[in-house]
Amino acid sequence: MGEADLNRERLELALEAAGLDLWENNLLTGEVTRKAMKTLSELGYSEREMAVYVHDIFKLFHPDDVMTVKTAVDDHLSGRTPQYRCEFRLRAKSGAWVWYANYGKVMDGHSDSPGKRFIGVTFNIDDRKRKEDELAQINRQLAQQNALLQSYNTALELLAASDSLTGLANRRTLMELGGNECKRAERFSHPLSLLMVDIDLFKSVNDAWGHLVGDHVICAVAEACRTRIRHGLDTAARVGGEEFVIVLPETDHPSARILAESLCQAVAAQKVAANDEGASVTFTVSIGVATVEGGGLSFEQLMNNADKALYKAKQAGRNNVQGFDGAMSGPISAT
Ligand code: GH3
Ligand code: MG
Ligand code: MG
Repeated sequence: MGEADLNRERLELALEAAGLDLWENNLLTGEVTRKAMKTLSELGYSEREMAVYVHDIFKLFHPDDVMTVKTAVDDHLSGRTPQYRCEFRLRAKSGAWVWYANYGKVMDGHSDSPGKRFIGVTFNIDDRKRKEDELAQINRQLAQQNALLQSYNTALELLAASDSLTGLANRRTLMELGGNECKRAERFSHPLSLLMVDIDLFKSVNDAWGHLVGDHVICAVAEACRTRIRHGLDTAARVGGEEFVIVLPETDHPSARILAESLCQAVAAQKVAANDEGASVTFTVSIGVATVEGGGLSFEQLMNNADKALYKAKQAGRNNVQGFDGAMSGPISAT
């Protein structure tokens, strides 16, 4: 065996081991001088069906990939790329599309004689492409699931922070927010006011009309609170069965009292349907108002003061507003 034969044998062995299929085209005639036999038989074609001219090969390419391949060839033949490389799908005899890659190079070329042999290898990358597709699909699903989880989390946080009947803040949220507002008021020497609102003789509403009507009354009072506060600044919370707290940052005592009076009157003017026969129920609230100016009071103490003022409003016959007055108790006056 001569050295040339030995080299051919070595080359065939290396190609076989690497899963590469050698091809060669004559650029002047457009003839395929060595067919990518392994690839074509892998795709199910017989030798007779295999292309003789380069333009026949293009019939096997996926329509979406033809331009990619032609551009890659052009780029290399015109010297823009040192090597021809591209990935594409070929149609198997069964009709299935299979992914392949091509690496190639023009040989015999030098500056005054353009190359005429175009040599390269084709190899199957179908597995890798499918895995990439699967991975991309999994990533898309993960992104969707993440977005869903995020929206659930937001909804859960909202649920945990609010009262289920009225949608107002719950006690936990109020205490957290109130503590912060107290600190902020102290730091900036701003006034902070608090309204403690309690439905009058609510037990009798329940007794006379039932719990469901009672719930509607609670919701009506909640709505009256909600519509009267400054969005994004004040907070209304339901802190007990028929008790509400409104936190009013940067609000002095007279302003807080004006809001409380207006809320008290608005509630008294409301009616809630009590049965299907057209009966309705009216109700009132009593409100205690407390203010802290320049700090020195915890949020719990401020709540306590408003509660004392509320007690006074109940004592004064209900359906009225009372402000906390330092004489009621405690060393620090907040009125
Ligand atoms: P006052 O004017 O002194 O506040 O009298 P009141 O009847 O409103 O006060 P009391 O604290 O005696 O009664 C409150 C009632 O609120 C008792 C309870 O059955 C009722 N209640 C508490 N939570 C709910 C609720 O979620 N829905 C309904 N319908 N009633 C509730
Ligand atoms: Mg009460
Ligand atoms: Mg009550």
